[in-house]
Formats: sequence, C-alpha cells, structure tokens
Amino acid sequence: MKIAILSQNSSLYSTRRLREAGEQQGHKIRVIDYLRCYMNITSKKPSIVYKGKPLENFDAIIPRIGASRTFYGTAVVRQFEVMDVFSANQSQAISRSRDKLRSMQILAREGVGLPVTGFAHATQDIDGLIETVGGAPLVIKLLEGTQGIGVVLAETYQAAKSVIEAFRGLDANILVQEFIKEAGGADLRCFVVGDEVIAAMKRQGAEGEFRSNLHRGGNAQKIDLSPEEKDTALRAAKAMGLKVAGVDLLRSNHGPVVMEVNSSPGLEGIEKATEIDVAGKIIDFVVKCAVEENDGDRAL
Ligand code: ADP
Ligand code: GLU
Repeated sequence: MKIAILSQNSSLYSTRRLREAGEQQGHKIRVIDYLRCYMNITSKKPSIVYKGKPLENFDAIIPRIGASRTFYGTAVVRQFEVMDVFSANQSQAISRSRDKLRSMQILAREGVGLPVTGFAHATQDIDGLIETVGGAPLVIKLLEGTQGIGVVLAETYQAAKSVIEAFRGLDANILVQEFIKEAGGADLRCFVVGDEVIAAMKRQGAEGEFRSNLHRGGNAQKIDLSPEEKDTALRAAKAMGLKVAGVDLLRSNHGPVVMEVNSSPGLEGIEKATEIDVAGKIIDFVVKCAVEENDGDRAL
C-alpha cells in the first residue's frame, strides 16, 4: 500500500515512528510537506503537485497538521479527499477540533461530560460570568493558548476579577471554567484509534503546579482507564468525527470531563509512557479502512 504522511518535518518523533511502522509492515511511505504542495482545484481530474511532480496512486494519507497551519493543511487534506484517497482524519473534523469553543459546543450537544464552562470576549458583566461557573476558585483560559500557557488558576473572587479584566484589556477571547481541584494536578490522555482507546497515560504536573502539561515540567505514566473514562473518550472522538484523536480528560467528582480533543496527538509521550506501538496501530487502522473503502468502490 502507498501511504503519505502529511507533515512539515520528517525528523519529528511522530512522523519518524509512523514511517518506521509503515515500512516495517511492507508499505511504501512518503513524508510530504503539505505547505509545499500546490493544487489544481478546477480540473475534472483534481491533482496535487509536490516538488514538480503530481502525487498519484496513494491509498491513504495520515495528516499531521500543525495548529498554526490548519487553514492550508486542511485544504491539502480536502484535495486528497476529492481525489478519493482515504484520510486517517477528515479535513472537516480537523478544522472543527482546532476551534476550542466550537468543540465544546459540539461535545455539550452530544451529552459528553465537560467542566462547567463560560465563554466571553469583552463582557462588562464579570460577576455574572464568574457566577455562571459557580464562583472561585476557577480557571481562566485564553482561547488561543497552547501547552498550558494562558491558563490561569484564580483562587479567589478578586483574583478572578482582576485576571478577567486584564484579558479584556488585551481584547482576548476567554474561557472561564470550574476548577477541578480533585483532579490533583493530573489529566488523562486517551489515545483513540477507530472504535478503541489503544493507549492511555496519566500526566501529573510538577509539585505545586495544577497544570499537567509535559512542557510545564509534568511527567507521564501508563494508566488503566475505567469503563466510564473509556466510554467518554470514545464518545468525544466520535462527536468530533475524529478517527485518530488524543482526548484529554480530568477526573472530577461528577465523573470524567473532557478538556480537549486533539486531532494530531503526539506519539512520543504516549509511546514512551505505555510502551505500546501506537504508530503500528495507526498504520493497521489506516490500511484496514483503505482496503474496505476500495472494496466498496468495486462493489458499486
Ligand atoms: P493547553 O491546551 O494550553 O494545554 P489546557 O486547557 O489543556 O491548556 O490546560 C492545561 C492544564 O491545566 C491541563 O492539562 C490540566 O492539567 C490543567 N487544567 C486545565 N483546566 C482545568 C480545570 N478546569 N480544572 C483543573 N485543572 C485544569
Ligand atoms: N503535544 C503533546 C501531545 O499532544 C502534549 C504536550 C504537553 O503535554 O505539553 O501529546
């Protein structure tokens, strides 16, 4: 089978592992920098050109689209879709997952457990916003933040008010969320492939830190999920339309709550913590789906 990995950098751990796993299974793997692709979108025979040559006869693609490259990256994925190439995640699902607010609205509609959350831009009614999520302590997040930067724990009502005022001064979109204290500075990363959680790890923040991000000094360990946690992760991925997803959960005293659903979850942390061949499982899944899709075409 001929599989393309859409990635800006072939030396990234995740990209390397996917290539390795695919080649080990005897597939032809090509890493394609999607930013360097150009497309003919008007022709009856849609095409993608890379390094001067058309990309042809691919059976499947695995998109690894950087958060800051969502617009162009999803356009390239969409062009492969137009060309009837199977994609591990559909372009639409990737775009959807990149909008935190939209994601939470979709998850809420599907009844997936979420932290009590309010959203605001430049509200004058700060008291009302704080009341919406049950008062302090609460967590305030910049909508555009990543890797735990722009996530603030406000322990008191006064602190919450000052932080919200400061963010309002910056003209930022913010999420205000109940603080899940009982999570103890840890979150669960559930790695979903198809209809299964294939690996899970618990990330624990550094001493005295409520954020569990590895970039903030946290550490990760393999963990067994409860049936309810597994079910929540699978329902979240399904609601988002993602077949490969990293679902981040917090253990709250009202059950597992979803913080985020990631459409290009990293492989390094999870493979090292669990010793599971996550890359191999993604390749297995993609190959199975691409075969089924081709069979379907022939049956028409
Ligand atoms: P980012 O997307 O920047 O990583 P997150 O929203 O995932 O930001 O928050 C970073 C970390 O902060 C999470 O991994 C979690 O450990 C902690 N955290 C976030 N929201 C809450 C919350 N409502 N209650 C408790 N801890 C939280
Ligand atoms: N980018 C990593 C991932 O998606 C998480 C990094 C972190 O926890 O800070 O798995």
